[in-house]
Amino acid sequence: METYKAHYDSMVRAIARYAPYVDMSLIDRAVAYADQKHKNQLRKDGSPYIIHPLAVAEIVAEVGLDTDAILGALLHDCIEDTDSTFEEIAAQFGQTVAELVEGVTKLTRVEYSTLEEQQMENLRKMFMAMSKDIRVILIKIADRLHNTRTMEYQTPQKQISKSMETMDIYAPLAHRLGMQKIKWELEDTSLKYLEPAAYESIMRFLQVHQREADEFMRSIQSKITTRLASVGIHGSIYGRVKHIYSIYRKMKDQNKTLDELYDLYAFRVIVDSIPDCYNVLGHIHDLFNIVPGRFKDYISTPKPNMYQSLHTTVIGRQGIPFEVQIRTWEMHETAEYGIAAHWKYKQGIEGGDEKSFEWVRRLLESQQETDAEDYIHSLKVDMFDDEVFVFTPKGKVISLPAGSTPIDFAYAIHSGVGNAMVGAKVNNRIANYDLPLKNGDICEILVSKTAKGPSRDWLTICKSNQARIKIKQWFKKEKREENVSHGKASFEGELRRSGIPASVLQDPDTLAIVLRKNSFDQLDDMYAAIGYGGLTAVKAVGRVRDDLMKLVRQPTKEAATAASAAEAPLSSVRQSRHKDSGVMVEGIDSCMIKFSRCCTPVPGDDIIGFVTKGYGVSIHRTDCQNASLERRLSQPDRWVNVIWSNAEEKPFATTLEIMTEDRPQMLLDLATVFSAAKLRLTEINGRDLPNGDCVFLATFEVRDVSELDSIRAKLRNISGVLHINRGQNG
Ligand code: MN
Repeated sequence: METYKAHYDSMVRAIARYAPYVDMSLIDRAVAYADQKHKNQLRKDGSPYIIHPLAVAEIVAEVGLDTDAILGALLHDCIEDTDSTFEEIAAQFGQTVAELVEGVTKLTRVEYSTLEEQQMENLRKMFMAMSKDIRVILIKIADRLHNTRTMEYQTPQKQISKSMETMDIYAPLAHRLGMQKIKWELEDTSLKYLEPAAYESIMRFLQVHQREADEFMRSIQSKITTRLASVGIHGSIYGRVKHIYSIYRKMKDQNKTLDELYDLYAFRVIVDSIPDCYNVLGHIHDLFNIVPGRFKDYISTPKPNMYQSLHTTVIGRQGIPFEVQIRTWEMHETAEYGIAAHWKYKQGIEGGDEKSFEWVRRLLESQQETDAEDYIHSLKVDMFDDEVFVFTPKGKVISLPAGSTPIDFAYAIHSGVGNAMVGAKVNNRIANYDLPLKNGDICEILVSKTAKGPSRDWLTICKSNQARIKIKQWFKKEKREENVSHGKASFEGELRRSGIPASVLQDPDTLAIVLRKNSFDQLDDMYAAIGYGGLTAVKAVGRVRDDLMKLVRQPTKEAATAASAAEAPLSSVRQSRHKDSGVMVEGIDSCMIKFSRCCTPVPGDDIIGFVTKGYGVSIHRTDCQNASLERRLSQPDRWVNVIWSNAEEKPFATTLEIMTEDRPQMLLDLATVFSAAKLRLTEINGRDLPNGDCVFLATFEVRDVSELDSIRAKLRNISGVLHINRGQNG
């Protein structure tokens, strides 16, 4: 006790003064318990650890909180730093105190790792949401206040990171809770570590000018006092220099030096009643010159944090402007201690706790925006019941609707993450997709490039509109791709039926005509419309058939004599195409001819035709697997006899399968034979076989089967070539 008696006494004095209703025997038991638990720990300055909880309890008492809150403050580091447990504290000091301590512990464990403003706002909201009992936040703020007061014992890095955290999280929270005095101290102390030079220069300036400042404040004070006394208003007048951080901000915002900055002084007149506030205002405006545009009536329109006062700025005879705040004593308490002050008023009133929680909730709800002017704009009902705050593994805070699942979380990060999701971990454990996330959970989404995308069930699992919209978008887009591919197939099929190869669309001018006549900007859009059924392929082709026919005809026009080609009827176009193919189909005058890729027939091969749906007649070798007797018997009416028409000697692409031993230079030798035979080799690929041999697939052009036989013989002569088959690509 000797080592911390002074701190203990100081706390007891604060309790006696600001929280006289507190049960001291409980307080003493908590002090003994905490001292025992922390007995082997020292503060950074070497003093016994118990001094810290005592100081935090003193701050909590000063703001007028209740017995449970002071007990919570005394025990606030026990769960985090000692072997103490929730159950033990609950058994000794009650469930409420244990919950307060646990709440503070949770906030202590929140990692602070980001500087983006939006993240800060989420983090502040999460703090609020995590501390279901507002006393948790008040204790945490008191804890931080004492830690900033003793920051000089920390390492320089810690000083800076802690000060940033204080500026970003705790000072705005104190402001939001209306605790102006604590907010100022947090800001000033943090500034000292974050901007030591600026802090020092402001301090020095204020010290140098302290005499004049004191004199100035005394003269204004006495002027007001005299006037109020003469008209019989009972009021207390205080003058002060504004706090350092607010001066620093003014210099930055207005880009001014200290000497140029007038607005350093503030006076406060505290009176007994609201009518007196307005009376005092009248007298102030009578005594001094008003600075226009600075009057604010926060009594009729309180700030979102319940702050009430009249504000005005006037100029004294010395030409120095100063602000005067006029308020009642009750308003003053609220201004200094915010929520805590309100708490104090509720002490001893039956059911008071419930009421103050309601008040707190309303207050928090109205404060999503720090800017007072914006708060009505952003009013939402029950915002903290509706939101849950979840961390990414990197410490970013994501805010989601309450009840959100890992699916919502994934889509909140990025739709790409959601669409590639194959699993989730919550707090490092594999979690079900429908697990409701809790405040402070760390959620990690497992993704895979081969993910199949969302399933339709996800639409019923997810809670956020964001996720639902993105999942629906995915399905729409997937469907679009399906639509596009269906549309493309039927459009191209319809073109072929008209004797127009789909390749005409590769010509940009032709494509432009197709798109213009069908009123589309993109080919895919047109395909999607056809696939969806908004436009039929027949109609789409019908609109452009004549234009495309002309284009298709052009090459033959050049070849033919000018006179006959000019009037060439449509049928002759088809006829010539028919002839071009080098195949005659029995019983059909004109049709599309396609050479099957599976068996690559060349003139001289025995061939047979298969009437396809929409692609004309496809030509197979009679020994092709795809033209087997079985198949011909199963669909007899679709197989037709075809013969080679030897009208033209144009080359045909065909494929040979060449089995060889594995030896160097084989590919080169094969290619050399093709080259010597003056055959155009369009493709040759080799691969190893399991038995150690190699197989090469060579695609090249020949005029007929005799040319093919001759090259086969030459290839067979190459040393190491085992045997050669006609290509059969399935
Ligand atoms: Mn602490």
